[in-house]
Amino acid sequence: MLVVMRAHATEQEIAGVCERIQSLGFRAHVMPGAERAAIGITGNHGPVPRSEFEDLPGVAEAIPVSKPYKLVSREVKPDNTIVDVAGVLVGGDELTLCAGPCSVESREQILASARAVKSAGAKLLRGGAYKPRTSPYSFQGLGEEGLKIMAEIRDRFGLLIVTEAVDYESLDLVDQYADMIQIGARNMQNFSLLKRAGRARKPVLLKRGISATLEEFLMAAEYIMSEGNYNIVLCERGVRTFADHTRNTLDLSIVPAVQRLSHLPIIVDPSHGTGKRNKVTPLSRAAVAVGADGLIVEVHHDPDRALSDGMQSLYPDQFDALMTQVRQIAAVLGRNVQPAKVLERATIAVE
Ligand code: PEP
Ligand code: MN
Repeated sequence: MLVVMRAHATEQEIAGVCERIQSLGFRAHVMPGAERAAIGITGNHGPVPRSEFEDLPGVAEAIPVSKPYKLVSREVKPDNTIVDVAGVLVGGDELTLCAGPCSVESREQILASARAVKSAGAKLLRGGAYKPRTSPYSFQGLGEEGLKIMAEIRDRFGLLIVTEAVDYESLDLVDQYADMIQIGARNMQNFSLLKRAGRARKPVLLKRGISATLEEFLMAAEYIMSEGNYNIVLCERGVRTFADHTRNTLDLSIVPAVQRLSHLPIIVDPSHGTGKRNKVTPLSRAAVAVGADGLIVEVHHDPDRALSDGMQSLYPDQFDALMTQVRQIAAVLGRNVQPAKVLERATIAVE
């Protein structure tokens, strides 16, 4: 059920509707809109009578939501959501570029990556301190030490950090250090972790599971939002198919499909989406052309020695070239990308 308020309904009227929802034992979710606010209701296990709300002051109408996902659907919020990641807006006119290594390996490595990523014009730095690896014998990440390195480099370069939480314990720490919490493909249906992310303070980057349908993907976002965290960015990162020329098949058609059904921004990960360095730039171009709100790209200063995902990591000069191309494609769509930066000597010096 969705309670749509009249245009210019007052804060008091909105609060009145929320109180009525809570008094029935349900949860109220206020969705501000460009023209009028709406209030989503969750926690009900059957239909809620419209008459409970229709006569309350400021209410225009109460309508049932037809989709299984409620809060993430456009029925509940017709305007696009713009997610604020510590001042960087995702989902607006500017494309959001996030880049960096697959995992945090050392301070020197993150320094080198941060320098490359920043000078190319990205605003977000990626790097996992906790790595979900197929083999228990592969590098598992530096843990909290890795988060500390990321936080130090953030302060120094003015980049924001995006890093993955793999379980409850790491989520607490990631919430403390990061600017954005990544929930990886393997955890897209880890419902208790999704709910925990829904109670976190930071925005969430939710990656699509390797065999998730569009509806399952949106339901995963609904888990997070139903707990009160409305700042979610979706990420297409490829799904498993019979194709063996790439690691995964990047499903770019999900971008317009998501945009039709949901108000949430969606970015694309062409690195995991293809698994091959030589396919990352072409698929990045395509992702921007299809209307994605940004990209998350693996970049390593020395990919041949990377401890994870070196095969799909770009060299810094390749990322620079990617950014140049992406800027031109973005312009065709009326979107922009932050210009490349000449870094000051003080910023780039390695101590
Ligand atoms: C990653 O971003 O390094 C990662 C592990 O991604 P995914 O969860 O999409 O596999
Ligand atoms: Mn990776």
